[in-house]
Amino acid sequence: MSTPIVRFAPSPTGRIHIGNARTAFFNYLFSKSQLGQFVLRFDDTDLERSKVEYADSIEVDLEWLGILPDLIVRQSERFAHYDAAAARLKAAGVLYPCYETAEELDRRRKRQIARGQPPVYDRASLDLDEAARAKLEAEGRRPHWRFKLAHEVVHWVDLVRGESRIDCASLSDPVLIREDSSYLYTLPSVVDDIDLGITHVIRGEDHVTNTGVQIQLFKTLSPQGHAPTFGHHNLLTNASGEGLSKRSGALSIAGLREAGIESLAVAALAVLTGSSDSVRAMTSLQELAGAFDLSHVSRNAARFDPADLDALSARTLHAMPYECARDRLIAHDVAGNHAEPFWLAVRGNLTAFIDVVEWWRIVEGEITPVIEDAEFCQTAAKLLPPDPFDAQTWSVWTAAVKEATGRKGKALFHPLRLALTGRDQGPELALLLPLIGRAKALARLS
Ligand code: GLU
Repeated sequence: MSTPIVRFAPSPTGRIHIGNARTAFFNYLFSKSQLGQFVLRFDDTDLERSKVEYADSIEVDLEWLGILPDLIVRQSERFAHYDAAAARLKAAGVLYPCYETAEELDRRRKRQIARGQPPVYDRASLDLDEAARAKLEAEGRRPHWRFKLAHEVVHWVDLVRGESRIDCASLSDPVLIREDSSYLYTLPSVVDDIDLGITHVIRGEDHVTNTGVQIQLFKTLSPQGHAPTFGHHNLLTNASGEGLSKRSGALSIAGLREAGIESLAVAALAVLTGSSDSVRAMTSLQELAGAFDLSHVSRNAARFDPADLDALSARTLHAMPYECARDRLIAHDVAGNHAEPFWLAVRGNLTAFIDVVEWWRIVEGEITPVIEDAEFCQTAAKLLPPDPFDAQTWSVWTAAVKEATGRKGKALFHPLRLALTGRDQGPELALLLPLIGRAKALARLS
């Protein structure tokens, strides 16, 4: 069997949000777990609303999420292919010009509804002969073009929803080309999927109806009349069931990144919400790929509470292996042979990665110690064990201080923490003390 080729096809008319990341990850994890290819396709046929800046930011956002496309395609560079496909459809008699205005169509729909009929386009323009068309064009009307659907039931086995069907007889012939000659999404998408050899179309369930139409287009346009395999996943909604929009800025990928949320937490939440797998912290995308299965995705809405992201992000840090943190630590000048034990000591206390900067300064740099009880600290300083410090030093030392002063519990530990770190809370001192080292500990206690 050949390896899958998938695509993620955002329109660059805004920034992507966590709901879009869900679709992107479904495609990415599905293809990469089978050594397949992932295409990023910008659906930018709407030249007015599409912006290069948005396309660029989508690439940045995907990279931050760990999604690296094998190929990037822009629909705005492929109009010639769509024109050729449209010409073939016209020649086959299945793409026909229509002259109704939006108002006329609206009136007709209302009449149909009043009569209890489904508001489906009545194909009136299909009956126009050459002379009638010429007359309309002479009046200044420009045609839009509809695809003549075969009135049949289209079946497919959906990767998520199982056996699926759309009765195309109940649909209006879809407009493929607008009056101003611009393309709607339907035809370019099929043309690209054919040309790029897309094997699996994984997208939100808001596209299920399109699939009936698109399978008919695949049958007409693809060399063997084949359509790809489809999978339609449920959409992420907030806790009250509302969908996410491009305007939900707080849940944009850029917004989450700026808020210090871990990309792996975004990934785990985007992928595992609304499936039979529990949402949990992951240590890598490989692990997430192993936990992910399209057939586990539920048909109910995938509700999530944005507040869960903070906790999941913290848990992601707490579980993060040093190898995964190393490059980011180096970028913050956390390097050298202390870097790994430092990371293992502090990760369990982080709520955001950036907090490491402050802990590194506390361990390696200068701080202002907080001395609650100078005499007690002096005594403790005198009892500091000799070098070298190791994982036992803290317990050996505090046992000696306890013995000498009679203090225990908080009265014993708290002043030592304040003096050594300047903080009243933080990572285990047994781990921090060897990193702080004898000389600095002595200075801070005195
Ligand atoms: N541009 C379309 C969207 O964002 C792509 C749909 C598809 O994957 O076919 O909804």
